Amino acid sequence: MGFTMPANSVTYTYSVVGIDPTTGAQKFNVLGTSCLPDAECMSYPIIIAGDSYAYFAYEWSEFPTEYLYPFIRHLMVLRIDSSGNYENIHVWDYTSDDIDLLDLGVSMITNADQGILLTWSAGAGGMAVTAGSSVSLVSAPQVPGGDQVVPVLQAQDGSFIGTTCRYCAPGYGDMVAFDATGNVRWIVPNETPQIATADGGVTGKSGITYDQYGNATGQMFWKLLSMPAYSWIRQWYSPTGGMTDAINLAIMQWATSYTATAGGNPSSQGTAVGVTVSPGGQPVFGLPNRGPGCQLPAGGGTKVPLSGAALTQFHAEGSALMLGNYLTSPSCSTFFTGTPLGANYLDPVSLAVIEQVPYDAVQSNISMYDAGMSDGKIPLDASVKKNSPVCGDFVAWHNKYGTHRVKGITSAESQISVLPPASGPATDIYINTAPSGLALLTQGTILHEALHNLTGLYDFMLGDWRTLYGYQPPYDLKTFVGIEPIPGVDPSPGSTHDITIQLVTQGCAGAN
Ligand SMILES: [Zn+2]
Repeated sequence: MGFTMPANSVTYTYSVVGIDPTTGAQKFNVLGTSCLPDAECMSYPIIIAGDSYAYFAYEWSEFPTEYLYPFIRHLMVLRIDSSGNYENIHVWDYTSDDIDLLDLGVSMITNADQGILLTWSAGAGGMAVTAGSSVSLVSAPQVPGGDQVVPVLQAQDGSFIGTTCRYCAPGYGDMVAFDATGNVRWIVPNETPQIATADGGVTGKSGITYDQYGNATGQMFWKLLSMPAYSWIRQWYSPTGGMTDAINLAIMQWATSYTATAGGNPSSQGTAVGVTVSPGGQPVFGLPNRGPGCQLPAGGGTKVPLSGAALTQFHAEGSALMLGNYLTSPSCSTFFTGTPLGANYLDPVSLAVIEQVPYDAVQSNISMYDAGMSDGKIPLDASVKKNSPVCGDFVAWHNKYGTHRVKGITSAESQISVLPPASGPATDIYINTAPSGLALLTQGTILHEALHNLTGLYDFMLGDWRTLYGYQPPYDLKTFVGIEPIPGVDPSPGSTHDITIQLVTQGCAGAN
């Protein structure tokens, strides 16, 4: 679906046109309230919010008594679904006795998957939050100088990070953290928000990283003319000498949010794309359509059982693991009983390996949520995973934002929770059936995945999230297997192979 917004020159009415991208045919044409003759209209860029609705803010104006003040400008938002069903929502009125103000200065951002938050500069400034077609006016964030705070990012806890200078170059204006009630949390002068990070903080366009209190905590990059772009696969790119080069900077983990990046997603064009993390620590985007080979169907996808040579290999590795008696060996017993809660899991882990049910990760288009890959503890995590097919984590995919390869190779991912009404242990394992994936399918991998099934743990859980979302020891698999010397700090960011290696090193799986 695409949108254009031609103004009808006769009636002064904005319309939002939906276009079917596969045929180019018009799908719908939604009209706003007409502006009266001689009263100019005004509109603002469309966003597509986390609830999948398009939001189009515009104004219509009138002199209730012709050519006599007061003059009234009505701030409206059209909320439209992909079929063209819509509501024309009245947000606020600007009334003036002496001036015909054209631009109310409206700025919108998604409010997670609930609606939008918008601020405006007209009058004393204002802010509103929508839910469905209802609107709540709230007091706008107050900053020195009385500037409007333009929302740019939403942090994982639902608060917002904005700027006091909408059209300024990076570094001008202030960065302001505020919540949906208008309460200002902190202000950083001369900074522009760019990426909301998983630790609750934010990275500015200066390259400085900040914690959730606005305190500077580090510097991502130095001596660059402009902030490098951070891509969908978490690679940094910088324009140099007319070319764009990949540059080697630390991986930054996005906040679980529908606007972790300025502009709503790494392509920054106004669509709020939710992002969270897979059980294996890779970024997951809430994009149901990854191209022809990987699409989440509207009615829910399917799990495709593993078959052929991949199934044969899976059985061979599992048999070697069990028949090799690794899990009952003295070294593995000593290892398990020496780790937090490990003794409780030594016997059940053998059963978990035997009961694993393998699926083809590349062909399975069930949502990650339905596949049991969310533990439900982080509110937006489940929401994003409902919109992301399992296959999207394993295959190069393309969508309306471009083509994306998968960074690194994930050999398998597993169910960590069982959705009601089903009960019992998690048993599903999704195997990467691409040759590069099968090359990594070892005894260690199978044991690693069985531990996910059994414990319900992610590979790694950030220190801040442990307290924030109520995680209990041993928190994550890296802690469980004793390779996390600093609690809450990932010893190998972006990789989970260290878990598999540890299991082999401790004698719990054969080295094949
Ligand atoms: Zn894992």
